[in-house]
Amino acid sequence: MIKVYLNKDEFSYDVYSLIKAFYPKEDISMKEDEPSDMLFKIEYEKNEIIVSCFKNEELINSCKDKCDYTDKKITKNILKRVLYKCLSNTQKKELPWGTMTGIRPVRIVSNLLEEKNYSDNEIKKYLKDYYFVSDKKCDLAIEVAKVEKKVLDSFDYKKGYSLYIGIPFCPSRCLYCSFTAYSIDKMRHFVMPYIEALQKELAFIREYMDMEPDTIYVGGGTPTALNEEELEILLKSINNTFDVTSLREFCVEAGRPDSITKEKLRILKEYNTERISINPQSMNQKTLDIIGRAHSVADIYKTFEDARDAGFKNINMDMITGLPNEDEEDVMHTLECIKELSPECLTVHSLALKKKSRLNLNKEDYTNLKIINDGNINTKTYDFAKDMGMNPYYLYRQQNIAGNYENIGYSLPGMEGIYNILTMEERQSVLAAGAGSISKRVYSDGTTIKRCDNVKDIKLFIENIDEMLERKRELFKTFHEDL
Ligand code: SF4
Repeated sequence: MIKVYLNKDEFSYDVYSLIKAFYPKEDISMKEDEPSDMLFKIEYEKNEIIVSCFKNEELINSCKDKCDYTDKKITKNILKRVLYKCLSNTQKKELPWGTMTGIRPVRIVSNLLEEKNYSDNEIKKYLKDYYFVSDKKCDLAIEVAKVEKKVLDSFDYKKGYSLYIGIPFCPSRCLYCSFTAYSIDKMRHFVMPYIEALQKELAFIREYMDMEPDTIYVGGGTPTALNEEELEILLKSINNTFDVTSLREFCVEAGRPDSITKEKLRILKEYNTERISINPQSMNQKTLDIIGRAHSVADIYKTFEDARDAGFKNINMDMITGLPNEDEEDVMHTLECIKELSPECLTVHSLALKKKSRLNLNKEDYTNLKIINDGNINTKTYDFAKDMGMNPYYLYRQQNIAGNYENIGYSLPGMEGIYNILTMEERQSVLAAGAGSISKRVYSDGTTIKRCDNVKDIKLFIENIDEMLERKRELFKTFHEDL
């Protein structure tokens, strides 16, 4: 347990996030009466910010910097740099992304590129001086921002919107999962009423927005957990409600190989799905068993080949580094197997330990599992994707991410997942349908963003579908005037 004391309750979440990045396994408490042998004391004094670290009540480190508190953003950055220095001196380590604890590090680079016209060297200097970002991550962020810019420059995304459709059912629950994902077997009786509620929501969105979306992404959960009949009903509704042939992208996350059949692939293709995701996460059977995937490595190969036979020319594969008990050799094995299959896109996630995952909730049961995600593994996944002819095209970070790295989407040139860029960088409004989904309104100034959510509980979602529509009606009522 690490205790934190602030003499003013300001930026406490930023303080928490940065300390957690240095001490991912420790609980962090801001409560005064909590017993702990480690204390970080943050003092906002008249002209300076002081951060001190105490171990067993003995001062072991202290850092400070001048601050006049006139600008909130500058104050926050000074605080984070002082805290970072103190943590780094105490732990004797640096973090790849420095003081950046946010989800979207590339957004800062895009702004410098697009609005300030900075050169690569100027961006790098800014990231290093201001956020202590490592050379490697500076180069990566610049590379991603440039690919994103190329995709975004190819159409007028500011005048459009994207549609997300959530199918919150899965064949079984993965060990690390914290998404809204219910067992399809246990919830079978809710599936058709759920699809009917979705149909109502989709019809509302099309009528209310009075225009076609730029992209549609069907995610989850696992959309292909639906049986063939249900999947066809859903896809037929999407096709009947929207002109899917006019989309820039129509993507369905097939996800789990244990949910995909040849017939489902045929249905996806018949109803104009162009891009799918088949996600092995690992090509090591021992790992698939540990993380609770009810399929074999052979199933992954077979599903991929079936998808090619069905005519899919843009397939993404997701993998995770830092999975329990996987070392560098295991990760390399997964990469070699994926290379054999030659997908157009590869998304490499670093395992994030989520509060609501079984891995965290039952952590006493998993103390024997080792999580390894080091710089070597991180570099090798990047090099491997490059060797496959791919470039990183979107990137995001999460709280409690193994090794403090990031999730990166790679693709062959021209095969980038457009929805991923639009939503991850918050460039375009998203209308989201389905339980637990979050709609996001991105205003024309590019910085104002408002959200509304749908309830997570499936039964409540079905019963209160009209209220979900009302929330969207309110959020998007000035959408067209703002374009
Ligand atoms: S497939 Fe995805 S959504 Fe489903 S349980 Fe696994 S991690 Fe969760």
